[in-house]
Amino acid sequence: MQGWIAVAVSLPFILHAQIFLHEFAHYVCRKAFGIPTQRMIIGSGPLMFRIGNFEVRWIPTSGSVGPGVYCMDLPIRRKLWVYRSGILANGLSVLLWVKNLIWVLCGLMMVWANTRVVVFPAKQTMSDGAWIALLRGSFRLPEGFDPCSGRDNNA
Ligand SMILES: [Zn+2]
Repeated sequence: MQGWIAVAVSLPFILHAQIFLHEFAHYVCRKAFGIPTQRMIIGSGPLMFRIGNFEVRWIPTSGSVGPGVYCMDLPIRRKLWVYRSGILANGLSVLLWVKNLIWVLCGLMMVWANTRVVVFPAKQTMSDGAWIALLRGSFRLPEGFDPCSGRDNNA
């Protein structure tokens, strides 16, 4: 029973940490390519704290770094690396703490969730996997979805 309590208590922290690594990797990749970043959001829901343009929200389900790069005047290869970098960070993070099963499972879940091709029409955004598929030409945008609406690239 104590094990389950430890899981319940540590899970939100671990998810937040995984989302942070993911978004931070997007940020570092953008920085390396000289792409300006105006904001980084970790989590969703009510605001936990904000430092400048960096925000942490209470619900560890998503995050974003903006503005999105899809519509920027950049080589496709660079755009692909920006979208891939978050997924790569989650995959590599597993190696940092292999003895923690929750950490490993959360890292792998982040890889799985972000490589899927998912569109969030209400938010006018998509998963990293969907942006990658779109850039590669293996996915067509749904009706009414404007990839250049100015919204951030998601999660
Ligand atoms: Zn991402």
